[in-house]
Amino acid sequence: MDTANKETPAISFELFPPKTEKGMENLKQVVLKLRRLEPQYFSVTYGAGGSTQERTFSTVDWLREQGIDTAPHLSCIGTEKNEILEILKHYQAQGIRRIVALRGDLPSGSGLGGLGELNFANELVALIRQSFGDDFHIEVAAYPEFHPQAENASLDLDNFKRKVESGAHGAITQYFYNADAYWRFLDDCKQRDIEIPIVPGIMPITNYNSLARFSDACGAEIPRWIRKRLESYGDDLSSIQEFGAEVVTQLCQQLLDGGAPGLHFYTMNQSGSVLQICSALGLPDGTTAA
Ligand code: FAD
Repeated sequence: MDTANKETPAISFELFPPKTEKGMENLKQVVLKLRRLEPQYFSVTYGAGGSTQERTFSTVDWLREQGIDTAPHLSCIGTEKNEILEILKHYQAQGIRRIVALRGDLPSGSGLGGLGELNFANELVALIRQSFGDDFHIEVAAYPEFHPQAENASLDLDNFKRKVESGAHGAITQYFYNADAYWRFLDDCKQRDIEIPIVPGIMPITNYNSLARFSDACGAEIPRWIRKRLESYGDDLSSIQEFGAEVVTQLCQQLLDGGAPGLHFYTMNQSGSVLQICSALGLPDGTTAA
């Protein structure tokens, strides 16, 4: 694809904190490969209620040791304000300057009792801004196909605006495979005078069953034509990946051509598909740059 004369888009990569030593070793290899694409930052997810806290910290520590710009995710549900402030002070002392601020989802039956002092992400954003001013660049989540618990689309947009008014600097979307949902979302935001950059979240397609399960839970739609084709490949993983890379590359190209401010890849701690997509998009990978 021809990307000549276009500025290189800002890309970022999301990781989750591995549960095992082997998983951590794999993550290190993945990061070394993806780093060549010169991402703006790597982000690291955080389990609601602090369920991954130590693993998120150690993943962030390792990334920082490599001199990599890192954005830890932080969710507020089920966590007291004091604990959140302690975590933020810890990150501030490490020189971290970007946070992905979320409500999070408590697993059912997690036994954490009440929901804590902060019930929605806008309250977390407000707390960060009140306590740390502009020290952190705050990213929040956006849902072009709407959050599964939203009462309706319009109220979800109003709630998104609350996060922006509370002080969010940017947003990353839930993944989607229908670019129109994103453009329409941007139009709705414009009408509500929301002006922060809203970066599309990109989920590579590597395994149909897990993607279908996850998409049902988080309210991201897999269009019927994609679902049907993926179903038809059965256990043929290489065909799924080949078709998935083609579809997702096309989506990314449409988004960039239409003016999306960047791309945020949900890597699932794998580099193969992301590298394939970025290469098809013509993004320089450090080894080819002049
Ligand atoms: P909110 O913005 O608080 O919205 C949640 C719901 O409440 C929406 O339906 C909204 O319409 C409604 N709402 C919001 N504010 C109000 C209000 N003031 N009054 C009434 N209703 C309101 N989860 C994790 O646990 N860890 C992660 O690391 C993580 N990373 C993510 C990264 C990205 C880019 C995205 C898109 C999601 C991520 N998630 C993560 C998932 C996220 O936590 C869930 O989608 C969660 O259900 C909502 O989080 P939120 O921050 O969007 O919540």
